[in-house]
Amino acid sequence: MQTIIVKIGVDISGLRPPMITAAWIVLNIFMEIDKECVITGGGENAPGRSKMSRHWVGLALDFRTRHLSDSDIKALSRMLVARLGHAYSWKITKSGSNKHLHLQYNGKGL
Ligand SMILES: [Zn+2]
Repeated sequence: MQTIIVKIGVDISGLRPPMITAAWIVLNIFMEIDKECVITGGGENAPGRSKMSRHWVGLALDFRTRHLSDSDIKALSRMLVARLGHAYSWKITKSGSNKHLHLQYNGKGL
């Protein structure tokens, strides 16, 4: 069984329930495209992270995408749209040394 790998130095201790649910959904997508699921960003201090970032409050995660092909990225995007719903937003950075999926919860009522 595949699992989520958390990169060394990444802090997931403050994750809030909507992001735990989202991480489970993302893991399932990575399993379906047969690629490793690695969390590369959580609530830890990271260079360039804005003061307003949802990472600080347990409502955002980053996932590794550098090992994904273009067709994997397309499949990932399609499945995120289908499965996550409107309370989440995400951005896939495809170029440079900072390739990753940033995923956050925007919903209210926490
Ligand atoms: Zn992020």
